[in-house]
Amino acid sequence: MISRDHLIDFFIIKIKEVLPLEKMAVFVYSNASGKRKLLHKRGDAEDFIALSSISRENGSILARKKAVQTEENMDFSEENLLVEEGLDLIIPLSFQTSDLAGFITFGKKMSGERFSRDDLELLCTMVGELTLNLERIKLQEEVIYERAEKEKLDELNRLKTEFISNVSHELRTPMSSIRGLTEVLQEGKIKDKVKQDELLGLMASESGRLSRFLHNIFDFGKIESQVKTYHFQRQELKPIIEEVVELFRPRLEKEGFLLKVNLPQSSIFLKMDRDAIKQALTNLLDNAIKYSSDNREIDIELIETKENVQIRVRDKGIGIAPEEQEKIFDKFYRHPEASKLEPEGVGLGLKITKHIMDAHQGEVGVESQPKKGSTFSLIFPK
Ligand code: ADP
Repeated sequence: MISRDHLIDFFIIKIKEVLPLEKMAVFVYSNASGKRKLLHKRGDAEDFIALSSISRENGSILARKKAVQTEENMDFSEENLLVEEGLDLIIPLSFQTSDLAGFITFGKKMSGERFSRDDLELLCTMVGELTLNLERIKLQEEVIYERAEKEKLDELNRLKTEFISNVSHELRTPMSSIRGLTEVLQEGKIKDKVKQDELLGLMASESGRLSRFLHNIFDFGKIESQVKTYHFQRQELKPIIEEVVELFRPRLEKEGFLLKVNLPQSSIFLKMDRDAIKQALTNLLDNAIKYSSDNREIDIELIETKENVQIRVRDKGIGIAPEEQEKIFDKFYRHPEASKLEPEGVGLGLKITKHIMDAHQGEVGVESQPKKGSTFSLIFPK
């Protein structure tokens, strides 16, 4: 598709070929929702501010009396402005079907002669062509924009449907395993204390999973309706990390993970919402576990640089392709491979984590390579 700038430049060259002029310029602006915004200023561009009051709807040509050989269809009311700007003519651009507006300014003819009726007719015909083509481009742009919007909407609808099916799965699985375990224990057939404790531990872990999941869904609702609030207090970071790690330790051991935690000796204090940061770290650890394949190793470290403080969670799992790395923060987004490999999850964890870090004026960093693993970081500015 030819750009508007190219079209206008081509138009200026053509006019100057057939009618050599000292100068000429084209101004196109958009009048969307009553606000005038300059879109294009091409040619020997005059000062738009001085001319911006020009807007003629009736299609007449603003001219300097002495510059034209005819008075037909001429408007001489802006004579002073034209003299001030060193111009002979201004032709307003009148668009029929869009919110575009504009005008073209013309200096003297190189020959020093006045503009004849033929000259003016030629200019008006060419200006008519230009406006038609500018409108056509605008229309094409709108069609492209609408198509892109529709595709986005279709994708969001698809993701929502998938989300609902994921939510029911996510609720059903722990619920039925809790019910199953309760029944087994109630029957009283299991007498072995160690075995009993193991089943109780499983129940606790399933309830934990359920409550983390509901917490995320609940928060997502608050984020979407813009009522999620944070309560900031100066806090020491290390105990928060230790607390989350301890919550995960039984699960990590059970699932055969090697966990390394590397925290500095010194204490680091930051202003933060303690629960929110626990939730953000929980989401990252949850993902590190879910998206690890055979290489079950997770490293957690807390580092302090000159600019920031980072909590880094590294896994050696399936990794994320570079082109996916931006999408993973979108709501409901799940990589197709992720949902195949790991049915758990609804695609909200990272969206919520990002919201939490935005509220802390921080960010969520991601470094990842497919099949090698990922490092997600909660980065707090100092
Ligand atoms: P969920 O885990 O419920 O799908 P998230 O918002 O937490 O939702 O993550 C979105 C997507 O990002 C996941 O579906 C997965 O494709 C990708 N992802 C997140 N964390 C990791 C990780 N540690 N390793 C590989 N992929 C990840």
